[in-house]
Amino acid sequence: MRQYDFIVVGSGLFGSVFAQQAHENGKSVLVLEQRKHIGGNCYSEDFEDTNINVHRYGTHIFHTNSEEIWRYTNRFTTFNRYQHRVLTTHKNRVYAMPINLGTINQFYGLNLKPFEVEDFIASKREGISSPRNLEEKAISLIGRDLYEAFIKGYTIKQWDCDPRDLPAAIITRLPVRTSYHDSYYNDRFQGIPSGGYTPIFERMLEGIPVETGVDFLEDPGYWHRHAGLVVYTGPIDRYFGYAEGRLGWRSVKLEYQRLDLEDYQGTSVMNYADLDVPFTRIHEFKHLHLEKPHTPDTTVIVHEYACIDNERPYYPVNSEEDRKRLKAYQELQRREGRVLFGGRLAEYKYYDMHQVIGAALQKARKVLRGKPEAATVESAGG
Ligand SMILES: Cc1cc2nc3c(=O)[nH]c(=O)nc-3n(C[C@H](O)[C@H](O)[C@H](O)COP(=O)(O)OP(=O)(O)OC[C@H]3O[C@@H](n4cnc5c(N)ncnc54)[C@H](O)[C@@H]3O)c2cc1C
Repeated sequence: MRQYDFIVVGSGLFGSVFAQQAHENGKSVLVLEQRKHIGGNCYSEDFEDTNINVHRYGTHIFHTNSEEIWRYTNRFTTFNRYQHRVLTTHKNRVYAMPINLGTINQFYGLNLKPFEVEDFIASKREGISSPRNLEEKAISLIGRDLYEAFIKGYTIKQWDCDPRDLPAAIITRLPVRTSYHDSYYNDRFQGIPSGGYTPIFERMLEGIPVETGVDFLEDPGYWHRHAGLVVYTGPIDRYFGYAEGRLGWRSVKLEYQRLDLEDYQGTSVMNYADLDVPFTRIHEFKHLHLEKPHTPDTTVIVHEYACIDNERPYYPVNSEEDRKRLKAYQELQRREGRVLFGGRLAEYKYYDMHQVIGAALQKARKVLRGKPEAATVESAGG
């Protein structure tokens, strides 16, 4: 086995962007991926014998305000003009999310004008000044009616516990739009890659050897001996053999269904707010590519169920205990030589795609050119 400047563990966005930058700068790179495919959680493929491109780990919408990240990503794909809108079903009626003027007027049977919304919501807030939990916080922001209709059941399904047992700090704000604007993201740039996400990774990794089906942690010493620097994008607790305990992750279970119908729900993502509906969302992927002619008599839908599953990490739980553990792991990480940790699993952090691209460009720039961390990185949640 030859020596590499970098061995990158994981072919998700962090690993692939880092590898692409290293290769472009004349460095030798090897990418290891434990799954059978590249692309991490962004992986997409056409479903069976259809041309319906499905996102295997849940619907992914690309959005960013950063021109630099948009330009960089456009080196590897073109985007369609998809604009994300989210709808939610409550008691068999469909409303726009996040809550906007249309949602409020439809829910209360009113015709409020934008300048009347704030006073109306204020009259519903029940005067809670120091909310003790998530439920009280939500009621203090939007009132009990809207909370019970749109937040309560969905939160219980997502977190599998009573919102009164969740800290108020989980939500800092619940956006209520005083207009009818229903675009989910306000970012300047958004869309879905015309050919799906996987070709982005194929192009980023062009000319770079990639070994799939290889778990770096089965023999880390071997790979370390052949790398100037290891870039590790897997779970941080697993890297250290769970020495400080396991970090908590929420997960999702996705159930695919092919239907002999042209269109099942008329939109890409429909939330289900009520507790008596066991799933949280239904995805229908063909709506992400309206530019593409699809078979008229087939559609693919996915029921999404929330669950806690550390083996399939999706969203960090981030409890107080998790934060303590993370600190302990970060201490171990500081003492670990010749390893750069990055991405959502190694940093135990929710990253949107544009954010993880920004973070990888920044780290790569620093390591490769000794440049200051100048790339635009939008803050988490932005
Ligand atoms: C349900 C869901 C929906 C999302 N929707 C959006 C969205 O609409 N818009 C958006 O911008 N972002 C979205 N995201 C976020 C997006 O998925 C992440 O930003 C992105 O996947 C992070 O990339 P990453 O490289 O950090 O991690 P990953 O994509 O998880 O890549 C890490 C890779 O490392 C590999 N690996 C781990 N350990 C090892 C090992 N020991 N050996 C070898 N390989 C290893 C893994 O198999 C994986 O392929 C969503 C996330 C989820 C969970």
